[in-house]
Amino acid sequence: MSAFLSKRFDSLTPYVPGEQPQDKKYIKLNTNESPFPPPPQALGAIENAVERLALYPDPEQKALTQKTAELCGVSFENVLMTNGSDETLDFAFTAFCDTDTPALFADITYGFYKVYAEWKHVPYTEIPLCEDFTLSVDDYTGKKGVVFIANPNAPTGLLLPVSEIERLLHADTSRLVVVDEAYIDFGGETVVPLIKKYGNLLVIRTFSKSRSMAGARLGFAVGCKALIDDLKKIKYSSNPFNVNALTAAAGIASLENDSYNMENCRTICENREYTIRELRESGFYVTDSKTNFVFAEHPNVSGKYIYEKLKENGILVRRFNTPRIKDYVRITVGTKEQMEILISEIRKITEAQNA
Ligand code: PMP
Repeated sequence: MSAFLSKRFDSLTPYVPGEQPQDKKYIKLNTNESPFPPPPQALGAIENAVERLALYPDPEQKALTQKTAELCGVSFENVLMTNGSDETLDFAFTAFCDTDTPALFADITYGFYKVYAEWKHVPYTEIPLCEDFTLSVDDYTGKKGVVFIANPNAPTGLLLPVSEIERLLHADTSRLVVVDEAYIDFGGETVVPLIKKYGNLLVIRTFSKSRSMAGARLGFAVGCKALIDDLKKIKYSSNPFNVNALTAAAGIASLENDSYNMENCRTICENREYTIRELRESGFYVTDSKTNFVFAEHPNVSGKYIYEKLKENGILVRRFNTPRIKDYVRITVGTKEQMEILISEIRKITEAQNA
């Protein structure tokens, strides 16, 4: 730390992204990326866009926003494109939270919510999930602030039905609910249609998972015009050209060939069900994930040991060193071949420990 860092950040603990090691080639199942490349048309679109790289990108991203609005069945004015969905979260914390409007989120959820709250000096309450990691919307009633819910949740993988989110929206229409649908394309039902009924709903989505574009950084927000205008106010005060021209071109091509993306999602869901089945047969407790990862705990082998042994054998998974979930590993669902190798390595580890 230099002598110049503002005192405001003395106690800030930054988010720690999953490892992106460059030392050797791992089977990388630790950051919920897609094992498949984006549609081939995205490459051609990027090549064409290179010709115009001397120019700033369209700050409004009209073509991409229009395509995204069509995908969601909403209007142009209901969508804002961002540099990954992390940037949407950043804008949302800035626009909607302050000392009088705290953030409310689950004790086990996407770790960035807490970091944004701390960075922006927003008070926050972590509301414990139930024993089985389900979220009870009743735990949020009567509490003041902005609710952030990842649905399906990470790292638990569990999905809340639309009816439960609607109950939360309906219970207090003067309270904003931000639903982070990063993993919605892997078996969940989106709440996007509810933006027409609820002015207190903001939905956050990403191209990083189901559309194989984590490296391009593309996300978006969907909500009523007033909420999107609030986010635009923050965007134009911080980063007007937040989506770069190459990413925008790839994003449009991706949506024009979305059946390719959705087919990949179906394959990932099949591979997920295979992985869950095999892990359960090997004695693991595995949640009913509706995402592109599985969340699993073995009764006799610690999460740390599984993580370390897998890494030694060239497979990277993720674990979280927090009390309630310290013995769980979160495993991204890759190709069938990758999951077969994973299962065979995990069997060796657990069988050696059980022996
Ligand atoms: N929300 C959740 C729940 C996530 O797991 C992630 C990715 N780790 C994000 C948002 C951010 O994704 P991105 O910025 O790549 O869109």
